[in-house]
Amino acid sequence: MERANSDNHALQKVTMALERTFSIIKPDATERNITGLVNAKIEEAGLRIIGQKRIHMTTEQASKFYDIHRDRPFYSDLVDFMTTGPVIVQILEGENAVSKYREVMGRTDPSEAAPGTIRAEFSKSIDANTVHGSDSLETAAIEIPQFFTDDEIVG
Ligand code: ATP
Ligand code: MG
Repeated sequence: MERANSDNHALQKVTMALERTFSIIKPDATERNITGLVNAKIEEAGLRIIGQKRIHMTTEQASKFYDIHRDRPFYSDLVDFMTTGPVIVQILEGENAVSKYREVMGRTDPSEAAPGTIRAEFSKSIDANTVHGSDSLETAAIEIPQFFTDDEIVG
């Protein structure tokens, strides 16, 4: 009985840890034609791209997406930057996807990012920092529907 309980517990933990997170490959990466290199890092980490499209964000989309930073001094530059060229929006799925992808991205400022992370390897500056990733499951649940309908999530 004890064994069955602990098996159930383990199963529940695994099921609960399967997460989805929202990812953007930013204009500095599409401009340099390195989206495949970025996604190689993501896939090597065991994350699966279950929804993906290349779009050119409108100012309205970018303003809404980064609304949380509205009062920060870099807000309007950030919105401008995100609309300077195409981006890849994508949904990643995997165990602990939110924190795992944050790890793969590295710190916001590439000069502080750990070796081997996307930002350490590919980013030029804190503003042109190659990728976005949701900072929590709650944020992911808000961000994903801003860019994807249910039938665009194909697994
Ligand atoms: P993101 O939300 O893009 O995944 P993040 O969560 O690591 O990045 P945030 O603090 O949410 O970082 O900032 C959002 C984005 O705003 C950063 O990715 C960066 O492009 C820009 N940004 C953040 N801090 C600064 C800053 N001090 N100067 C310029 N741009 C900044
Ligand atoms: Mg953030």
